[in-house]
Order: sequence, then structure tokens, then C-alpha cells
Amino acid sequence: MASKSLPISIRSVTKTYGALAALKDVNLDIKSGEFMTLLGPSGSGKTTLLMVLAGFVRPQSGSVMFGEEEVIAKSPHERGIGMMFQNYALFPHMSVATNIGYPLRIRKWSRERIDAAVDEVLSTVQLSGYQSRRISELSGGQKQRVALARAVVFKPKILLMDEPLSALDKNLRELMQLELRGMHERLGMTTVLVTHDQREALTMSDRIAVLRNGEIAQVDTSSALYNAPTTAFIASFLGESAFLPVTLRNGVPFYREQPLAVADGGAALADGFLVLRPEKLEVVTTHERQSEYNYFEGSLERVLFQGESSVVFVRLISGELVAVRRQLNEGNSSTLPPTGSPVALGLHKNDSRIVRDDLKG
Ligand code: ADP
Ligand code: MG
Repeated sequence: MASKSLPISIRSVTKTYGALAALKDVNLDIKSGEFMTLLGPSGSGKTTLLMVLAGFVRPQSGSVMFGEEEVIAKSPHERGIGMMFQNYALFPHMSVATNIGYPLRIRKWSRERIDAAVDEVLSTVQLSGYQSRRISELSGGQKQRVALARAVVFKPKILLMDEPLSALDKNLRELMQLELRGMHERLGMTTVLVTHDQREALTMSDRIAVLRNGEIAQVDTSSALYNAPTTAFIASFLGESAFLPVTLRNGVPFYREQPLAVADGGAALADGFLVLRPEKLEVVTTHERQSEYNYFEGSLERVLFQGESSVVFVRLISGELVAVRRQLNEGNSSTLPPTGSPVALGLHKNDSRIVRDDLKG
């Protein structure tokens, strides 16, 4: 049986527009069948990198391999990839079946084969029976599924998607994220998704490559990026966090005059920041202290009730305002003292990560 997917190897890819370097010596390996997300702020080079994979942008230098094949000099239609974009460019007055069959007619498939493939892919995207509907009669989510069906109808070994869900409202977007992920698991093609939405990236990906200014800042699984960011940029881009400045003295990290307990591998080798994630902090009122925790003194400033959880803001003595998320099902809402009371933030040393300061520049 032919394999359903191909690995992608990107080597030393550089793309400049005049003086602007959109991609700077980018290297990335994507495994066969992997769901890889390119995540980064606007202008970081995500679309450019995807267009290099698709063949619409030719870099000044570098190599792109699909499996054993160098594709850098190939045109988009020679690359055999499926593609889906934010403005999905369906033909509005034609039927669903005509739209989805389009890439197969280009490939000169027979009428019978096209009809069978369209039927099969419609069931994959849960639109069985919609063959003869006009695109203009469909909801936003249904159009999205038709665009997806068209991208995968010829069973590409590689699927490229650029912000495919960003035009949808939040509920539909979350539903489509689950469906896209499910479809990826059923069809098994190597998938590269571009998004600027960190939650979408965390939800959908096997791994995430975070881009910044045309460079890859970190590549890792969702949980490793979230729990073990290496730099302040990554920590601030994925999830909420507050940062406390840390200096190293004889190899020991200090916050102000306070030495910090940090698990092995949790400390950077240079000055940086301690990352405070809201869900990893505890609000402590008693003077009981445990040695495997770091404590930061402050006062209770505000409590925001948010339904299933609440957010407690603590003003540290040093002036920083830090958010703590508390689940309410433990019945702990009653244990908080009145606002203005002295409290401390507790952070287990295993959750104490010091990241490099790369926020400037
Ligand atoms: P992203 O998708 O992450 O928002 P892009 O890859 O679209 O970023 O763009 C990266 C950088 O390259 C941006 O500074 C953008 O303005 C620039 N850029 C992209 N395409 C072109 C182009 N055709 N001509 C000139 N500059 C471009
Ligand atoms: Mg883009």
C-alpha cells in the first residue's frame, strides 16, 4: 500500500524582500503524518514559510525535501499538496460536488471516479447528501468543510493550511478544530497549519514551531512549550504569565534578596525571569512554609469570580501584580482573607522555571 504521508525537511531557507528578511536560515523537520503548527505574531514569517512549502514563494537559498525528493524548483501543481486558506475561494454559484471535484477534473479523472471520491470525502467532512447544494446556500462552517474536502479529495500526502478557521466565530472555530484534528487522524497526511492563535495551536498540534522575526524560536510539543518555555517571548506568547526578574549570583538564582529553589534543568544559565503561571500559584495566608516552595510576599488586591474558577490578584511588595487562578470546586473560596490582607504566593520548585530575557529586540 502506498504511504499516506511524507516527511518534510526544510534546510537553511532564507527569503528576503529587499532589505527585509522574512525568513532567516530556517531549519525544520516535520515527521511523516505529523500535525505541525507554525505559530507566531503577525509578520513573523508563517505565511511565507508555508508558501515556500507550497511552491508559491521561491526562497533565495535553501532546500525543501518531501520525503526523498527535492521540491524547491517545482511549481505548486507539481508538488501534489492539498491546500486550504482563510479566504477559501469556493465558486459560490456552483454546487458542492462541482467545487470539490475541481482538483480531480484538473487531474483528468473519470466522471465515475470523481463522483465516488466526492461522495467519500463528503462523508469524511460530515456533509453526506450535500452534493447538489449551492455554496451560497451553506453556512460558514459548512463552506469551511467544503473547502477542506476540496483540499483533501485527491488524498494528498501533505496538507497545508493558512489560518483556515480565523473567519469563523469562536464556537464554530472550536468545533472545526476538533473536526480537523479528527480528520487528520483518519486520513493520516502530514499537516502544516499556520495560526496566530496560541490556544488553537495548543489544541491541535503534535508539535508547534514558534516563529519570531523570520526565525524559529522553539519547536516542541504543546505541553513542553507551555510547561518548559526557554525564553520570555515563548512564555508570554503561550499562555498567561507574570515575570519576576532573576539574577544569578554564584550560580544561585535570586529574586531581589531572595534565593530561589529551582528543580534541575529549571534554571537558565544567565539572568532572566521567573515565570509565574496563574494556575501554578497558590495563595498562602499562614506562616507555614514548606522548603520545596518559593514564597513571594504581598497583599490580596482583588478577587474576580469567573464561574468555574476565580482569579485572585496579589500585589507583591516589589510592586508586581500577579494573577492566581483558583478552581472553586475544592471549596477554597471561603478561605481567602479580606482584600488588603497580607498573603504570599507559593510556587513549587518543580514549577519554577527561569527563562532567558529576549523581550527586547
Ligand atoms: P505572517 O504570516 O507571520 O503574518 P508573513 O510571512 O506574511 O508573516 O510576512 C513576513 C514578513 O514579510 C512581513 O514583514 C511581511 O510584511 C513581509 N512580506 C511578506 N510577503 C511580502 C511581499 N510579497 N513583499 C514584501 N514583503 C513581504
Ligand atoms: Mg500570515
